[in-house]
Amino acid sequence: MNYYCYHTHSKFCDGASSLREMTEAAKANGVKKLGFSAHSPIPFENSWSLKMENFQSYTSEIEQLKKDFKGQIDLFAGMEADYTPGLSYSFDYLRKLGKLDFLIGSVHLVKGIENDQIWFIDGPSINYELGLESVFHGDIRTAVGAYFSQIQEMISTQNIDIIGHVDKIKMHNRNRYFSEEDEWYVSHVDKTIGLIRQSGAVVEVNTRGIYKGRSDSLFPGVKWLERFNHYGIPVTISTDAHHTSEILKGYDEAVLFLKEIGFKKIYFFDNFKWEECSLQ
Ligand SMILES: [Zn+2]
Ligand SMILES: [Zn+2]
Repeated sequence: MNYYCYHTHSKFCDGASSLREMTEAAKANGVKKLGFSAHSPIPFENSWSLKMENFQSYTSEIEQLKKDFKGQIDLFAGMEADYTPGLSYSFDYLRKLGKLDFLIGSVHLVKGIENDQIWFIDGPSINYELGLESVFHGDIRTAVGAYFSQIQEMISTQNIDIIGHVDKIKMHNRNRYFSEEDEWYVSHVDKTIGLIRQSGAVVEVNTRGIYKGRSDSLFPGVKWLERFNHYGIPVTISTDAHHTSEILKGYDEAVLFLKEIGFKKIYFFDNFKWEECSLQ
């Protein structure tokens, strides 16, 4: 099995290992292609995103690693770009600023409908609960609707290479506020899949929720994946590693799971284009 990992974090954002340590670990684990995807800078104080003042050092360190590891492992400079209208930087701006090889588009920060407050759906579950109350007055349907509107707007308006953990909104839910079988939820899924088909972007199958014990299923879940397979929507596997020990966490299991669903191939990124890799 060839391993391709494009979704990784480092000490430049909320990861625990350096870019070099991540590269060494990926190489030791037989990873063929490794992408770095720091959380994009956000214009407010926080502990998890790349700081704008470190943007230059981030990309130049990757340039140096590309030289140092030439012929051993292929490295790509990327970013996990947050999409929050009116708050986040445009993806094209980030891409140009860092001369980036690829971008993952993700939503972690959901903007209120009638206010400019932000609901942070990642991190500890208490943020999810408090944000749902303060930003959306506890109205889960409106809150989840706002999340999917942002996801859909991102897919329609931004130039994205990989769509990140597209149903992350389920993570802290754990069947407390809604069921993924609810008709209103399924209609968000239907609309999102329609837009993904039109966009041509690759969607990641993200293993982090499972190995961190925060989700019972992959991002996205089986219902999405069955339809991706049916429509031939291209997927790549992401471990969303924040530490050297996580580079391949859940990867083999995800391959087996995709094969069971019927997937015959995953996709890997090389030289600004996507290629197929057979799962046989
Ligand atoms: Zn993310
Ligand atoms: Zn990530």
